[in-house]
Amino acid sequence: MRIAVIGVGHLGRHHARILATLPEVTLIGVADTNLQRAREIAEAHGIEAVTDPLALPGAVDAVVVATPTASHAAVATPFLEAGIAVLIEKPLARSLAEADALVALARRTGATLAVGHTERFNPALTAARPMLTAPRFIEGHRLGTFPDRSLDIDVVFDLMIHDIDVVLSVVDSGIAAIDAVGVPVLTPRFDISNVRLRFDNGCIANLTASRISRDRTRKIRFFQPESYVSVDFAAQELDVWRLVRPPAGAPSIEGGPVPVSRDEPLRLELEDFVAAAAGRRDATVTGEAGRQALELAQRITEQMVSVR
Ligand code: NAD
Repeated sequence: MRIAVIGVGHLGRHHARILATLPEVTLIGVADTNLQRAREIAEAHGIEAVTDPLALPGAVDAVVVATPTASHAAVATPFLEAGIAVLIEKPLARSLAEADALVALARRTGATLAVGHTERFNPALTAARPMLTAPRFIEGHRLGTFPDRSLDIDVVFDLMIHDIDVVLSVVDSGIAAIDAVGVPVLTPRFDISNVRLRFDNGCIANLTASRISRDRTRKIRFFQPESYVSVDFAAQELDVWRLVRPPAGAPSIEGGPVPVSRDEPLRLELEDFVAAAAGRRDATVTGEAGRQALELAQRITEQMVSVR
């Protein structure tokens, strides 16, 4: 499969690095409006560098779009129009209208459209998933230090959208209510935000995201009637505790760390995309799933009470 990476900044260079190692893939080129950056990455792989994605050499079977979110739709559209498989980094697009158009276009041409919600491939979450049978309360924290990128979007679209997507993949129910608060601290956008989602089935998800923290935290905890499942995305660690009711005597709480086969989530995401592009199956995170995460992120920001 001939694949190119479009946008080889912070994240795109990792896509290129990993794609170059996948047995089924030939990395044929990279495109970046910053030619120097494109050349640096291309030279490392002995491939061609271009500034215009449409000038990528020869025919491509698939592309990865890792440009800033504002350009996702414009960059991906010509490839989807040509029926070429596209993996678009999260968030899928800068607006719901653009996301709708991308999903509809992929459906019309039959092109695979996958969205880079990388945490879905985190081995700690994968190990936890069979245990997530009836979450009633979910607590998510995604905190980071102040970045030099993605400051043109609210923290909800940059960080919280990962947990929004994870929660939507776990809780199969509509949203009954949203309570959200955000604080613009160092930028005019929301730099820290908390949302409480109430689902139709009664489950509550309380998510906090911050890009102005001192430490880096990426954790989500699931509380169920008789068990507690804690996922640390950064450490790829899983803790599970269960209420054990013996036939006689007092109940006890038992559990602890569960072994996780650590792996690079981005590599798992790319392998999934390659399998989907080869027609073996749907991508795990489809365009529709990326659109749903974006829609909820948008609803959250629309209802955000701003604390200034
Ligand atoms: P970045 O600014 O470091 O890199 C973007 C690159 O795209 C730059 O090199 C820029 O020159 C290039 N570029 C800009 N417009 C272009 C265009 N029209 N055509 C070709 N190249 C273009 O940004 P980043 O941090 O790598 O983020 C890129 C995307 O990845 C964003 O959508 C971001 O939200 C997403 N992201 C996802 C994760 C994840 O965990 N899945 C993590 C970080 C970033």
